[in-house]
Amino acid sequence: KTISEPIVLVEQLEVDFDGFKAIRGLDFSLEAGELRFLIGPNGAGKTTLLDVLCGKVKPSGGRVLFRQTDLTRHQEHQIAQLGIGRKFQAPSIFMTLTVQENLLLSMRQKRGLLSTLVAKTTPEQRSRLHYYLEMIALTDKAKEKAGALSHGEKQWLEIGMLLIQEPELLLLDEPAAGMTDSETEKTGELLHRISDQKTVVVVEHDMEFVRQFAKTVTVMHEGTVLREGTMQDIQNDDKVAEVYLGR
Ligand code: ADP
Repeated sequence: KTISEPIVLVEQLEVDFDGFKAIRGLDFSLEAGELRFLIGPNGAGKTTLLDVLCGKVKPSGGRVLFRQTDLTRHQEHQIAQLGIGRKFQAPSIFMTLTVQENLLLSMRQKRGLLSTLVAKTTPEQRSRLHYYLEMIALTDKAKEKAGALSHGEKQWLEIGMLLIQEPELLLLDEPAAGMTDSETEKTGELLHRISDQKTVVVVEHDMEFVRQFAKTVTVMHEGTVLREGTMQDIQNDDKVAEVYLGR
């Protein structure tokens, strides 16, 4: 895959919460197909940046372009339609439905008549279902109730529910939080599989996870970008060590 086309362009972004500037003059861009990790100390503005990219928070200044579209002119639901998927920390899966019912539900984005969901599935939908079940490594558990899954599996199901809507850009907040070591490892591998096809932004606090799976990292500090580069560059940067690691 060749990385070249910018998919996100943020210029001089400002976000103001009742007079408090959470984001101040932030420039940020992403190329299609990137897996980008967003790190930085608490309060740096990482979550706020994701909130702006999915339309949950409206900026007080600057430009936010997704492809050629100015996101600041759109509502959150419109931005989802444009192809930006956001996973929040609180789970939004239906525990009493099976894994595949959750996925089908998300694919159709409509509720009701659950008992006939599977029967009505078209061959195209079925193949899409199997494709994403494979990707999130839950094929063997397709018919199990979501409530019976492990914490990690629930998180993957939720990522699958986003993927099956086929967004171009996926925004994830601490995808491996609370997972076992082996689940964390699988999550890192999943992120790399996803980024073969999509652009992915991950906010992550677990530095061990970042070290293991990140190639390109953006370090935020006090509402702006402090440094950007490879994991190697970031690890050897004095300024980053100073603000981020408190040294
Ligand atoms: P991070 O994700 O890097 O920890 P956040 O984006 O959550 O940082 O927060 C950046 C700053 O903005 C913090 O100081 C936080 O307290 C503040 N903040 C975030 N959301 C709100 C809000 N809705 N109202 C007021 N202040 C907020």
